[in-house]
Amino acid sequence: MAVRDIVVWPDSRLREKSREIDEITDEIRTLYRDMTDTMYAQNGLGLAAIQIGVPLQMFLVEARLAGRDEEDGPLAFINPEIVETGDETERSEEGCLSFPEVYVPVDRPVQAKLRAMGIDGKTFEVDGEGLMARCMLHENDHLCGKLLVDYVGPLKRQMIKRRLKRAAAQQGKGGDAGEGDAATGR
Ligand code: ZN
Repeated sequence: MAVRDIVVWPDSRLREKSREIDEITDEIRTLYRDMTDTMYAQNGLGLAAIQIGVPLQMFLVEARLAGRDEEDGPLAFINPEIVETGDETERSEEGCLSFPEVYVPVDRPVQAKLRAMGIDGKTFEVDGEGLMARCMLHENDHLCGKLLVDYVGPLKRQMIKRRLKRAAAQQGKGGDAGEGDAATGR
């Protein structure tokens, strides 16, 4: 079990395009487990591999939201593609583990069908509605480097950047004494 650090915006790694996964190896299964541990430690509904710094095309959706039993673990989407989305859209506040405490309104299709490979190597399709559709489309955005801030105007984007930098600086102060002294300039 390994909880990994979440990559937080404006870290440029979040803009990377993730690569396809050729086959399900032990390394990929370990990545799945680490992502699962990290997502649950942060109470996330979904998590993309790039959010722990691995630019591979995989994201997870929390078990209940994906309509599975809790003990089955999160549903993995490997090399996903969007098959179709409904015409109807809905605006709702969206959060992201790479944007702690930030919520922005995002318009998304109410319905989305995705095709992907599971962690068992089998291809499957999921037709999701509402929060499930929103979550799949949000995570899928991560694989091509698209982020929450791409859905807001430049002013709000600057505001979010300042807020996250301030939060990161404050976290630094809470670290070991040496770093704290440096951060406060004393
Ligand atoms: Zn996200």
